[in-house]
Amino acid sequence: MIAYVGIGANLGDARANVLDALRRLALLDGTMVIETSGLYRTAPVDSSGPDYINAVACIDTSFDPHQLLAALQDIEQAHGRERPYRNAPRTLDLDLLLYGDQQIATDTLTVPHPRMHERGFVMAPLGEIAPDLVIPGLGAVHDYLPLVASQAVEKIG
Ligand code: AMP
Repeated sequence: MIAYVGIGANLGDARANVLDALRRLALLDGTMVIETSGLYRTAPVDSSGPDYINAVACIDTSFDPHQLLAALQDIEQAHGRERPYRNAPRTLDLDLLLYGDQQIATDTLTVPHPRMHERGFVMAPLGEIAPDLVIPGLGAVHDYLPLVASQAVEKIG
């Protein structure tokens, strides 16, 4: 299944943490990284602390959605992420943005990620690698890019 993963970090060496997350995604069982966006520097949204570094990866995975979420959380844990309060600054945050064209709503997993289309730090890197992708229930990624254009997002590499 083709899935898209959003990656963000704003503590420690944020750039190194994002790059390490990409490396760890590629090492997951039955998973190949098909494409990765560049790195983006973004101002915190609903969060605090230093600027974030963000990226999006397209993967081909044999994990089911909940297995994939668990694998993403393992990668977060490997970076010692703590959750002292909601939306606290984080060394590494991985979100399952899209899983094929599935719409999933369980207690632990909502796909498409419910706020992805409002967030420049997701949509800018996603628009770089998949502008014509359709977000189930919403529409094409490129149609949402103008809506987030006012958010401070700078491509850094
Ligand atoms: P966060 O603090 O942003 O990492 O949120 C983590 C929580 O969001 C976890 O308890 C997940 O079960 C839940 N969650 C729901 N949908 C998703 C998703 N699509 N990707 C990542 N986490 C999700």
